[in-house]
Amino acid sequence: MAKQLKVGVLGATGMVGQRFVSLLATHPWFEIAVVAASPASAGKRYSDAVAGRWTLAQPVPPSVATMTVADASDVAAVAGAVDFVFCAVDLSKDATAKLEEDYARAETPVISNNSAHRWTADVPMMIPEINADHAAVIEAQRRRLGTRRGFVAVKPNCSIQSYVPAIHPLWSFGPQRLAVCTYQAISGAGKTFETWPEMVDNVIPYIKGEEEKSEQEPLKIWGTLADGKIVNASAPAITAQCLRVPVSDGHMAAVFVAFDKKPGRDEILAAWASYRGRPQDLELPSAPQPFLSYSDDDARPQTRLDRDAGYGQAITIGRLRPDAVFDWRFVALSHNTVRGAAGGAVLTAELLKADGYLTAK
Ligand code: NAP
Repeated sequence: MAKQLKVGVLGATGMVGQRFVSLLATHPWFEIAVVAASPASAGKRYSDAVAGRWTLAQPVPPSVATMTVADASDVAAVAGAVDFVFCAVDLSKDATAKLEEDYARAETPVISNNSAHRWTADVPMMIPEINADHAAVIEAQRRRLGTRRGFVAVKPNCSIQSYVPAIHPLWSFGPQRLAVCTYQAISGAGKTFETWPEMVDNVIPYIKGEEEKSEQEPLKIWGTLADGKIVNASAPAITAQCLRVPVSDGHMAAVFVAFDKKPGRDEILAAWASYRGRPQDLELPSAPQPFLSYSDDDARPQTRLDRDAGYGQAITIGRLRPDAVFDWRFVALSHNTVRGAAGGAVLTAELLKADGYLTAK
């Protein structure tokens, strides 16, 4: 087996960080060398630092349990021990942006779950099946940062990962207008029913900043690379409402879409069934096969039954039917802390390794 790359997880004690730890513990290409968090956790054994707040059903991986948590702000120490880092810290936007650039400038690539650099024009915001070509902007970013190997790449917000993958294979039909209503799990707020009992038997019709992200981020994903920047797509027009619902994991989206050239039902189903991205073609370790699956059962997708499709990396679509106001409507589901967070970032790292952007130091 080829030598594994050494990785650090910044924010390893948090909800998304725990997912990173669990996904990476047995990863064939990456080996956890450092777990890092805030000064409050630094110096503790990892198992002690997450005691009482480990949220996953599977136990803390033994290979990580005994590691000593590092201070994520000690960039030189962490960067000296790893080939690249994943970032899932909960800091202010400015502090996160600075921390990530500090790692990049220390020649340590950062694959981030955070939003701080999503709108930096030379930072690729990636859904690997959709815009693998955006990685090419990294060369321009390295020139700006003055780095040889360091860079930042980010994944988009979890809310868009149910519907953007479903719309993308229909691109040739010219999607013009898109209305989405998302039904989002409480883990997206870093919470469980124990830590957020107000969510039991309840719906909250507001998630701060989520509707703006849901409307704007897809346009960068569908953007084009020009002059060392990603230039946003100008269509489709997107309107979104995002609701917090009482489920633990899994974001559902109800989607309404109007096209330039309205496709037939069979054309839509065929486009979904045949769609493959670069991760599928490269057979990356975390690539779901297939990426998209359609269920004919009117009662699917269901959050509990379908969120783990493809180990949480696949998207399940259902209820495709004509719409009286738009052309078509359907429902789509993704796992928010796997595909929408840590899993999506791990898949992005696999793609960037396969394409030569992540290498051993
Ligand atoms: P979380 O459970 O609150 O964990 C936050 C992590 O950040 C912990 O490891 C914490 O370490 C660390 N941290 C806090 N202050 C720090 C500091 N000063 N320096 C270094 N590390 C520090 O949050 P989360 O839900 O995992 O989310 C992490 C980030 O991902 C957030 O920005 C969130 O918005 C974003 N996100 C979350 C989801 C999701 O599904 N949950 C999805 C997409 C994006 P300690 O344990 O030592 O405090």
